[in-house]
Amino acid sequence: MAELTLDDVTKVFTEDDGNEIVAVDDVNIDIDDGEFLVLVGPSGCGKSTTLRMIAGLETVTSGEISLDGRRINEKPPAERDIAMVFQSYALYPHMTVRENMSFGLEESTDMPDDEIDSHVSETAEMMGIGDLLDRKPADLSGGQQQRVALGRAIVRDPEAFLMDEPLSNLDAKLRATMRTELQRLQAELGVTTVYVTHDQTEAMTMGDRIAILDDGVLQQVGTPLECYHAPNNQFVAGFIGEPSMNFFDVAVRDGRLVADHFEYELTPAQREAVGDADRVTLGVRPEDVEVDVEGGGSHAYDVFVDVVEPRGDENTTHLTFDRGVDEPETFTATISGLRHIQAGEPVVATLPPEAIHLFDAETGVALH
Ligand code: ATP
Repeated sequence: MAELTLDDVTKVFTEDDGNEIVAVDDVNIDIDDGEFLVLVGPSGCGKSTTLRMIAGLETVTSGEISLDGRRINEKPPAERDIAMVFQSYALYPHMTVRENMSFGLEESTDMPDDEIDSHVSETAEMMGIGDLLDRKPADLSGGQQQRVALGRAIVRDPEAFLMDEPLSNLDAKLRATMRTELQRLQAELGVTTVYVTHDQTEAMTMGDRIAILDDGVLQQVGTPLECYHAPNNQFVAGFIGEPSMNFFDVAVRDGRLVADHFEYELTPAQREAVGDADRVTLGVRPEDVEVDVEGGGSHAYDVFVDVVEPRGDENTTHLTFDRGVDEPETFTATISGLRHIQAGEPVVATLPPEAIHLFDAETGVALH
């Protein structure tokens, strides 16, 4: 078990024409012993490059990576005592499951064969693949192959696990099952884990903490609920949460926010947060918008239902201030699936002051 630290870690790729790409830009993260950290962000934000630098598969341009306080920048991958699980599983096709799982131990330890054998059998039992040890990867389902790939990492008893989108080749149902299984396994083994995904649901449900990257820059590190309730900036606010947070570009006038179609009375705390800005971005999560058939109040607005997307237990409702327009501007509200609301219906949408997020209109930084 180990603590993993990234200090000012930067990776610059130089292309053939001399063009430089800053894939990872001055990233700092302290990952606790036994912690499950999820690295999340959109495609191309630098997640895989960060993971590959920790694994030693990519050099570090500047900064330091250390494991239990010891710098590992120059250590070859095989000497890092870190196991990596890839999206592609990367199993050897000509080897049986047992051989795939034993291979790393035979190469990197002087453990006697019978001990390796029993260690592999025990791990395979724990992973629910005990009866597949004599099969080859081609004779396994995707889920079974993924279990073998995980088993192969676990059997090495490493200081840390690195996982690069390990569930993305599985169908939705299996992915959900494996998510829970992986979490349970990680908690049981207590091994420091860095898990890369572009899927915010995976990040929210699996991580002790999540680290959100955009364009190589770390935007926030926190528990899933911290990132959800108190996003540092508009990027995090829009990335975490499903459906995404609604944003309105608004002017600030005399303690009120003035949007194209509505005005919003700021609370004293919000006034203070806004300061002397003349424009801000107002954010509200779909699940925080209250939708009623009638009513009113200082933060309630008359709107129309544009489209209702049923999702079973919940409906995503697209609401608009523009009735009868061809392509109206809409915002979303999540309402109970039991409610019958139809397109075209007039409703009252309330934006509760305690659920409002405010961001700097230029920088997107959260205003508190
Ligand atoms: P994805 O989710 O699509 O895998 P990612 O967040 O893992 O994306 P990276 O693969 O780390 O992103 O890439 C970060 C940036 O670095 C991208 O702009 C990518 O094009 C660039 N990049 C990655 N590897 C190289 C390389 N070997 N040479 C040049 N540029 C690279």
